[in-house]
Amino acid sequence: MRAHTAALAVAVMAAFYSSATAIAQTAPPCTNPNTLGVSRTVQIDTTGGPGFGFEHYKANDFLQPKEVVLTFDDGPQKYSTESVLAALAEQCVKATFFSIGKMALGYPEIIREVARAGHTVGTHTWSHKAIAKLKTFDEGKDEIERGISAVHRAVGEPIAPFFRYPTLIDTKESLEYLGKRNIAMFSTDIDSLDYKIQAPEGIVKTVMTKLAKNGKGIILMHDIHKKTAKAVPILLAALKQGGYKVVHLTPKAVGTTVAEYDAAIEKDAKGLPQVGQERPVSAIVKTVDGDVPEAEKAARDAVEAKAPSAEAADREQHAAAPEHQDTPPPAQGEATSEPEGIPPPAEGGEAETGAGTHGQTDTPHANGGTSAATGSLSETSAGAPAGEPPAETAGKAATAPATAPKTWSARAAELWESWFGK
Ligand SMILES: [Zn+2]
Repeated sequence: MRAHTAALAVAVMAAFYSSATAIAQTAPPCTNPNTLGVSRTVQIDTTGGPGFGFEHYKANDFLQPKEVVLTFDDGPQKYSTESVLAALAEQCVKATFFSIGKMALGYPEIIREVARAGHTVGTHTWSHKAIAKLKTFDEGKDEIERGISAVHRAVGEPIAPFFRYPTLIDTKESLEYLGKRNIAMFSTDIDSLDYKIQAPEGIVKTVMTKLAKNGKGIILMHDIHKKTAKAVPILLAALKQGGYKVVHLTPKAVGTTVAEYDAAIEKDAKGLPQVGQERPVSAIVKTVDGDVPEAEKAARDAVEAKAPSAEAADREQHAAAPEHQDTPPPAQGEATSEPEGIPPPAEGGEAETGAGTHGQTDTPHANGGTSAATGSLSETSAGAPAGEPPAETAGKAATAPATAPKTWSARAAELWESWFGK
C-alpha cells in the first residue's frame, strides 16, 4: 500500500515536472524603472557544496561593494510571508527563501507563490532541529533530506540545491554530506536580528548599520515574523536610498530529492493533495440530508458571499482555488510576544540555543498555554476567509464544532504555535 502510494506520488510529481516551466514563469515582468530592482542575477554551480556567507564560510566572495542578497528563513507563514512577497514585488526585487519542510507542507500554496514570483527556494531542514545537537548524523541526514523532499513536494517542482543550517551551526559530517549531494550552504554576512528585535525600524537600523560597516553582504531575515514583513518595505527603501543593489541568487542546476525520503514524508503529508489538486473540504464533502454542520454552512456562505451569481461555476472552479481561502489565520500573537526566529525542535528534541553564532539566548519551548489557542484555531477553521470575514460568517465560524476536520493550514498554524508560542 505504502509502495503504491509512493509510486503514485512519483508519477504525479513527474507529471508536474513537465509543467514546471509554466509554473515558474508566472511572475509579471518588472517594468517600473523607479524601483530598487535586481541589479544582477548570479548562477551558482553547487557542485561539491560550496559555502557562502562570511560569518562561517570565508570563501566565494562574489558580492561587489554595495551589493546585497536578501534571504528569508523558517517560512512559509501565513500573512507574514505573503506581506514579504508583496513588499519584494513592489520594489521588483528577488530573494532566496530557506523554507522548513513542515511549514512548506502546511502552507504549500504560499511557498508555491514564493516560487511563482520568481524567488529562489532553498531548504532549512524538516523541523528546524540543530544538526550539531543531534545524536547521530543519520538523524541530521533525515532532517536535511526530509526538508528537501517536503519543500520540493509543496512547491510542486524542483527547487534550488541551497541549504541553510538552523542556528547556522554545521558539522563536519553534514558538510561532507552536502558536498556529496552538491548542495550549496549559506551562512550570512548581515544578521538582521529580527528574531529578537521587536520594532521594524530597529530591524532596518540593524541591517543598515552593519551594511555601512561591511559594505555589502547576504542579509538574514525570517519571513515568519509580522515585524519582519513590516520591516521589509522600509529596508528596501533604505537600501535604495543608500545606493545598494540587490543580487539574485539562482542555481545552475535544480536540486534532486532522495526517493527514500520522498516516501518517508508521504506519511506526514497524508491527506495533503498534490500541487494543483487542492480543494477545500466544503467543495468535496456536502451534507445532503440531516443537519448541516456550522463549519460547512460558514464555508458555503463564504463562497456565496464571494460570487453569489456564479456559485455553481465557482464550485466547479474550486479545484484551482487557493486552499487557504477556506482556512483560518494562524493564531499569531503580537510581534512583541514572539520568541526568537529559531524555533525549538518539534519532535521532542533538545531546545536549540543558537548561542554560538547568533548570540541568541535560549529559545524556550513553547509549551503550556497553547491549548487554548489551539482550541480557538479549531473553531476558526470553520471557514472564515482571511482578512475581514463578514460578521455573519465569523459568528458561524465561532460556533463551529471542535470536531471539524483540520485543514493542512490549521495544522501548520498549530505547529508554528508550538514552536514560537502564541
Ligand atoms: Zn531558522
